[in-house]
Amino acid sequence: MSSIRTKTDVILIGAGIMSATLGSLLKELAPEWEITVFEKLENAGEESSNEWNNAGTGHAALCELNYTSEKADGSIDITKAIKINEQFQLSRQFWAYLVNSKVIRNPQDFIRPIPHMSLVQGEENVRFLKKRFEALSKHPQFQEMEFTDDHEKLTEWVPLMMEGRKLNEPIAATKMNSGTDVNFGALTRMLFDHLKSKNVDIRYKHQVEDIKRTEDGLWELKVWNIESGAIERHAAKFVFIGGGGGSLPLLQKTGIPESKHIGGFPVSGLFMVCNNPKVAEQHHAKVYGKAKVGAPPMSVPHLDTRYIDNKKTLLFGPFAGFSPKFLKNGSNLDLLASVKPNNVLTMLAAGVKELALTKYLIQQVMLSDEKRMEELREFIPTAKAEDWEIVVAGQRVQVIKDTESGGKGTLQFGTEVVSAADGSIAALLGASPGASTAVHVMLEVLEKCFPQHMIEWESKIKEMIPSYGVSLSGNQKLFEEIHNSTAQTLGLVEKELVYS
Ligand SMILES: Cc1cc2nc3c(=O)[nH]c(=O)nc-3n(C[C@H](O)[C@H](O)[C@H](O)COP(=O)(O)OP(=O)(O)OC[C@H]3O[C@@H](n4cnc5c(N)ncnc54)[C@H](O)[C@@H]3O)c2cc1C
Repeated sequence: MSSIRTKTDVILIGAGIMSATLGSLLKELAPEWEITVFEKLENAGEESSNEWNNAGTGHAALCELNYTSEKADGSIDITKAIKINEQFQLSRQFWAYLVNSKVIRNPQDFIRPIPHMSLVQGEENVRFLKKRFEALSKHPQFQEMEFTDDHEKLTEWVPLMMEGRKLNEPIAATKMNSGTDVNFGALTRMLFDHLKSKNVDIRYKHQVEDIKRTEDGLWELKVWNIESGAIERHAAKFVFIGGGGGSLPLLQKTGIPESKHIGGFPVSGLFMVCNNPKVAEQHHAKVYGKAKVGAPPMSVPHLDTRYIDNKKTLLFGPFAGFSPKFLKNGSNLDLLASVKPNNVLTMLAAGVKELALTKYLIQQVMLSDEKRMEELREFIPTAKAEDWEIVVAGQRVQVIKDTESGGKGTLQFGTEVVSAADGSIAALLGASPGASTAVHVMLEVLEKCFPQHMIEWESKIKEMIPSYGVSLSGNQKLFEEIHNSTAQTLGLVEKELVYS
């Protein structure tokens, strides 16, 4: 029988943006609760949340074409775009609250305004973009969207992308000036500094190896102290598995019925980074294109202005790839070890269904540097190989599960909170829209796991996130107020939104 070394109210596994957000929310809602964090790496925000491991897009559906699909009758379905935009508004409000309460001193350290654009070529794509613009711009959340198929205007918006372009094909773009570049790594580190100042016990170089239920209803973690080599036991009333790609194997260890019949498929990513400041200076936007046929939605190519370490740079990608690791710092055995008797059929079904994806990933892995440059030149025709180098991004583990609509072994591209029926443990799986919607997803964890506290917490949640529980798409005035006040607080002011 093992001896429990510590007993606490809450354990957060992983020091990424998700645990940082949940810990920060809980410290506001239940300041007296004791929280312990276990992170296997040396610092916070080193895996997917790190600024070099993701694209830093504040996903608000301002430019991502995969959030608006064309229906059979030719109309554009904007439901998902509205939903994601609303979710991002929740993040903006919580971040603004953290700035107002001096947890974050300088918002510029993690968020900057940057126009979000979609750019397409070819008659069919231009027609789609125009229809999409007409559908979205009627909606208050997208009212400031601009559209152009005029070359002069495009040259004004994205000179670097228009230089040397052979304009023998129609080309068009939309632009939203209220887009953002978010340094999720910096934000994660700031939130962990704050949690430390609030006496949260953060243990780096501690890897969670196993999770079991004890007879008295607690969750007991077997933790490997990487520095000392010791095996420790820690128990808590509530555990959040925020291990990013490492969440699925830990969820499987809990043995809860909700963890069964779920698999994970890792997709790795590469970015090209511009090392020539003169080139980086000529572009000021996040420009999203259209995904290639067979490509998964997270592989939509985009050219991004980024602010990292107070330096402006450009990132292009991501190029997808295959690696059996679930984390960038993971093991080659991760995928194999995640196949269990209860999910083997689900995984096999996905393997058969997703042949197009497999083919796409193989093609991506085989891409030569010259082929990558060719893809970059579709965005920047004059790009020179010597100005660009490759950086390895984070791993994304897509959820595979059996669904009513998709059948056995359906690959999911969203995020998914999986929790025990009694709310004592929850895990976050999947990676899209990702860090941008961390506040929405962690509010979902609170609602699922602490229903008994929600009435008592509601007024504090509304103080932090005024639109909590209210649909912004159905409340134009509130949207306008919140959009403008968060823009002020977060230093994102370009032009105030005023509705007639
Ligand atoms: C290529 C790429 C581009 C992306 N672009 C965007 C974007 O533009 N915008 C956006 O909003 N999102 C984006 N995302 C998604 C976003 O990065 C993730 O959704 C988000 O960072 C996940 O945060 P997390 O806290 O869940 O995981 P992570 O940041 O991965 O943190 C998990 C932590 O858990 C630790 N851990 C794992 N297992 C254990 C264990 N057993 N014991 C102890 N610690 C453990 C890990 O070391 C890690 O530190 C992108 C992701 C990728 C890969």
